[in-house]
Formats: sequence, structure tokens, C-alpha cells
Amino acid sequence: MTKLTVSDLDVKDKKVLIRVDFNVPIKNGVIGDDNRIVAALPTIKYIVSHGGKAILLSHLGRIKSEEDKKELTLKPIAERLSELLKQKVTFVPTNEGTELETAISKMSDGDVLLMENTRFQDIDNDFGKRESKNDPKLGEYWASLGDLYVNDAFGTAHRNHASNVGIATAMKKNGKKVAAGFLIEKEIKFLGNAIANPVHPFVTILGGAKVSDKIGVITNLIPKSDHILIGGGMAYTFLAAQGYSIGKSLFEADKVDLAKKLLKEADGKIVLPVDHVAADSFSNDAKREIVSDNIPDGEMGLDIGPKTIELFKKTLQGAKTVVWNGPMGAFEMSNFAEGTLEIGRTLADLPDATTIVGGGDSTAAVKKLGIAPKLTHISTGGGASLEYLEGKTLPGIACISDK
Ligand code: ADP
Ligand code: MG
Repeated sequence: MTKLTVSDLDVKDKKVLIRVDFNVPIKNGVIGDDNRIVAALPTIKYIVSHGGKAILLSHLGRIKSEEDKKELTLKPIAERLSELLKQKVTFVPTNEGTELETAISKMSDGDVLLMENTRFQDIDNDFGKRESKNDPKLGEYWASLGDLYVNDAFGTAHRNHASNVGIATAMKKNGKKVAAGFLIEKEIKFLGNAIANPVHPFVTILGGAKVSDKIGVITNLIPKSDHILIGGGMAYTFLAAQGYSIGKSLFEADKVDLAKKLLKEADGKIVLPVDHVAADSFSNDAKREIVSDNIPDGEMGLDIGPKTIELFKKTLQGAKTVVWNGPMGAFEMSNFAEGTLEIGRTLADLPDATTIVGGGDSTAAVKKLGIAPKLTHISTGGGASLEYLEGKTLPGIACISDK
């Protein structure tokens, strides 16, 4: 990879600013799921064990009022991080000013400090959203606190914020190095490479609710893929474009022309469902039946049917790269999870294939279904991985120094 990574840095005795993604679910100070904190550990541990001073920045949620600040303080996260690292983590209840600067000046090599939620800078000032609108002065200030900068927050890599792009820009202006952390390095290695240089046959699997959410992904991946399997709610707009009856399935009337255009452009690469699990309502208790081709009036397709599962499995045989975004059905309901589960199982069993999952709900689906450990890479970013799949340049990655 051409980007500088944390293992290229000499961090000994250095103040290393690290942008992590600690945007975890939290309620009344209780952390719901600490996956994101765990995911940041390799980079932090590397810096600490190599004698660097780790100065951490992260956002948490959105700050619109003083009230939000009470709920969205990073203090409980500092405590959890300390437990996970088995070392003291100094929490500074601000992210600007003397208190922070003094705390940093007192750090010894191997110490860890976490400053308060970067988005506290989004209110109470003349600029407005200083963090989220990337006030250059804020990036310059944060950059002045360290000798090196490591960005490891993939979940915000699609954002142009002061705590990623702002700091990186200022660091580079001052001749200081900007590197990727291990998490971002891994995303570039798998998600980035799979799309830039896929080993063929390359099969893309798309699903989820809406065509409109995935237009960018489809258009970017049509020319690169050998086959594109489309399931989930978005399949129905394509089927309607081909003249099938879709009952009351998810449908975007204003995307029919686009679906026709994409089908034409894909020139046979797009494979659509040939049968469905249809139900009379969007409920796990709904009466359901397997239907081929046309969906009767009053029913909706909520999962791909058994023949489609076989068809998709057959198309996946021999694939060397698979990118999957979007569940094959309304998998949150057990009666409509079979398609998603079977496709996941198929990917898990493919020999010598690089299998990559991106997208918030898709990731939740493979985790819930227990197939995550058998896949090559589960992307940690929801919006960020979608934009990566769309072929967009992510500002939080573009700002990292080249090797
Ligand atoms: P991702 O977050 O992985 O990009 P999406 O947000 O596009 O995925 O889609 C996920 C949602 O799509 C899920 O909530 C799922 O219930 C819904 N979905 C999938 N198939 C259907 C369907 N046939 N009808 C209605 N909803 C569906
Ligand atoms: Mg989603």
C-alpha cells in the first residue's frame, strides 16, 4: 500500500495524536457495545509499547445543545478503554485550552490521554460547527499538540472534519507525518484493493432496501464485476422494470428508468431473483408463501426464494473476489432471514476467495447470523464503506501521507 502507516513511524518519545472512532452506542453513561473501542486497541497498543505518548481524539454522537454534552461525554469511554488496555487513561474534560495542554505536558512515554468529544466544538462559538465543518483554526490547534498524527477512524473517513482532515492538513504544512492506523490500513488493504484490483471472477452481491441508496455502488461496480447478484427490496424495482408484477413489494417508481438503463449497461451481468418469499404484511407472523416470477396483488416479497438461492449459489461458484452489500431480505425477521443466511454460508465456504462485506445492516446481518468469522473482511464503517464501494475518494484517507 502506498499510504504511510503507523508501523512506518518512529514514535519513541513522541506525542502521537490518534484519531480513533469511539462513536459507540451509549445510554446514561453505559456503553452498549464496545466493538469500536476494541477495534482501536492495536494502534494504541503499538504506540504505547513503542514508547510514544498516545493522545486520543474521537467524536461521539451529534452535539446540538448543552444537554447533549451530558449524555455524550467520553468519560465512560476512557474508563472502558483503561480496563481494556489494563493501564491508566487520563481523561481531560475539554479538548482545548490550558487544562488539556498541561495534562499533555505531564505525559510520560507510554501514557494514554483521551480528550473530550471533538464535537463539543460544534456549539458555543463564532464559527458554528468547528469540528464538523472543519474550522481550519481548530485543526491547526489540535495539530500543535503533537509531533505525529495517526488517523484510525475509518467510520468517519468519508467526512471532512477538523479532527481528521483539519489536523492532517496542518500537520503536513508543518512538515509533520500523517499515517494510517492499523484499522484504516486493513480497510484499504481489503475493501480498497478488492475494488481497485479484484482477482476475477469478481462477483458483487447487492441487496438492502432501496435502489436509490445504492446507485453509486452499482454504477461503480458494473464495469468491474463479472456478475452482479441483486436481492433484497431493491430487486423489485428492477423486476418491475422488466415487466413483472411485484404486488406491494418495495418499489421506487422514479427509479424504473434508471433500472432499465443499468440492466442494459450491465449487459447480462445482473442476475435478479427468480422466486420470492412473499407475505401479506411486513411482519414475522405474516402469512407467507413461495412464489415464482410474479408476486400476487396484496403480497410483498420479503426474501429471495429457494430457486434464487440456488441460482445465486451457482453463480458464486469459483468466484475469487466477492463484495457483498445489503441483505437479501428483511433478515431482522427470522422468517425472512433464510436468503441472507444462505448467501452468507455460501461465501463462508468458498475456497480461496476474498470475501468482503460492507454496509451497516449487512455487517449487522453477518454478525447476527454468526458467519462473520468465516469471511475475509467485515468493514467497520457504514457510510464510509458505502462511499468506498462507490469509488469515491474518502477525505480521511486522502489526507494521509504517501510512503
Ligand atoms: P446496508 O446498511 O448494509 O447498506 P441497507 O440499509 O441498504 O443495507 O438495507 C437494509 C434493510 O433492507 C434492512 O433493514 C432490511 O430489512 C431491508 N430489506 C431487505 N430486503 C427487503 C425487502 N425485500 N423488503 C423490505 N425490506 C427489505
Ligand atoms: Mg443501512
